[in-house]
Amino acid sequence: MDDCLFCKIVAGEVPAEVVHSTERTVAFRDINAQAPTHVLVVPRDHYPDAAALAAGDPAATAEVLLTAAAVATAEGHDDYRLVFNTGAGVGQSVFHAHVHVLAGRSMTWPPG
Ligand code: IMP
Repeated sequence: MDDCLFCKIVAGEVPAEVVHSTERTVAFRDINAQAPTHVLVVPRDHYPDAAALAAGDPAATAEVLLTAAAVATAEGHDDYRLVFNTGAGVGQSVFHAHVHVLAGRSMTWPPG
């Protein structure tokens, strides 16, 4: 996708602090961190949201989750929160599937 920010990060056309990558995924720090660890894990291929990713590429979906767990472990966290926002109404602002890996502080439930 020509105008997709996360496709540009995957391609190296937009700088990002990449912390982990695999054949199908890239993990980089969120530019507006909401926790001591706040990393986004994205599939290299473009899907607009998590459900589209799961329908289109189950192997990449699993790899996104395994990458998220690897990031949390690498940063020393047994406890972490994974968030997939789906739709602008709940806060999705970048329409390339991604999971937020949040850790390093106490969190409340339900989220705001
Ligand atoms: P969403 O709101 O669930 O779609 O998450 C998008 C996330 O991307 C937000 O937490 C933003 O802070 C983050 N973000 C936006 N632009 C960049 C960037 O250039 N680098 C890293 N993170 C970004």
